[in-house]
Amino acid sequence: MTSDALMNNYGPRALTLTRGQGAWVWDDQGRRYLDALAGIAVCGLGHAHPAVTAAIAEQASQLLHCSNLYNIPAQEQLADRLKAISGMDKMFFGNSGAEANETAIKLARLHGNGKNKRAIPTIIVTQNSFHGRTLATLTATGNRKVQAGFEPLVRGFVRAPYNDIQAIETIAANNHNIAAIMVEPIQGEGGVRIPDANYLRQLRALCDARNWLLILDEIQTANGRTGSFFHYQQHGIHPDVVTIAKGLGNGMPIGACLTRGSAAELMKPGSHGSTFGGNPVACAAAIATLNVIEQEQLTRRAATLGAELLAQFKTALAGCDMVSEIRGAGLMIGIELKHDCAGLVSRAADAGLLINVTAGNVIRLLPPLIFSDEQAAQLVSILAPLIRDFTPED
Ligand code: PLP
Repeated sequence: MTSDALMNNYGPRALTLTRGQGAWVWDDQGRRYLDALAGIAVCGLGHAHPAVTAAIAEQASQLLHCSNLYNIPAQEQLADRLKAISGMDKMFFGNSGAEANETAIKLARLHGNGKNKRAIPTIIVTQNSFHGRTLATLTATGNRKVQAGFEPLVRGFVRAPYNDIQAIETIAANNHNIAAIMVEPIQGEGGVRIPDANYLRQLRALCDARNWLLILDEIQTANGRTGSFFHYQQHGIHPDVVTIAKGLGNGMPIGACLTRGSAAELMKPGSHGSTFGGNPVACAAAIATLNVIEQEQLTRRAATLGAELLAQFKTALAGCDMVSEIRGAGLMIGIELKHDCAGLVSRAADAGLLINVTAGNVIRLLPPLIFSDEQAAQLVSILAPLIRDFTPED
């Protein structure tokens, strides 16, 4: 399909997917693909999960939408569930990751304009980060390609290298306008970059000492993907603000900004809102998704299968000159090559496998959390030879 009625922002798209079941998808020619991308970390339960489908159908048959002028029981239930899972206090629901991050940025502004007022409330963000495509979130994003042409960017951001506490201490010593720091616990679009084990704890300590909000963008890492529901739970800390989206509704558009302590009290009636945010159908899908993640212990599954997949790739690619590192947390896996390798995406598709390449030279794997051992073995057996055969000219 090549309709000229669509804006050109995505470039050409090679495949037309029409159907999915579990970890498999089919295109309009009837070809089957093993899905090791899950709609970019969205369909954690795989495609057409019956519990999610039933929850959507049931809610849609009752009330599709009513707006936030009225109580929405599914939204309240979902908030209570997420509060219990996260240890956070209060949350706002939107429709996407970018919208969740906009909410977080607005909270940082409210914090910086409140007690201990800063002249220009400023948020520290990091190099190679990705936070979204709205004006504020693309300003927060550490990638010039995302920003180019959209100037003037939003004021109130300073940038530090990722995984560099010293750089943040230097900013702290010189800039008295800092109100918050916003980071991904593992950079996704930036190439599955995993910081040092004590990075998040050190950030927490700095934020405590300086009355900054610690904002974690867990849009890609949460919802069980890295082996715990939120990635911060593996580091023994709580953020002041955490944003989630992607896997929350298993494909229904929903995002959330969760807050704790004083950050939970910053919004007042009228400060923020969304017509669709926390819509009954999206919340029903998210509740069903949480139920399945809990019942099938999919966070634990992500941890064990992720470790297994890393080990299998390390064995299958041992001695391969092209590979510089294989890393991951749970089912968020990056295979970094020494050369740009975007061409591998179509090679994999030709071999019946959906993967992604990010940051030019990192193969990113984000399979559904319901991936079976057999599917994991298939993934390795298709992908490892493609990497071994890959030459930079491809
Ligand atoms: N933050 C992170 C870490 C992401 O990975 C993404 C999307 O890839 C976003 C924010 C933006 O989310 P959305 O595309 O739902 O606006």
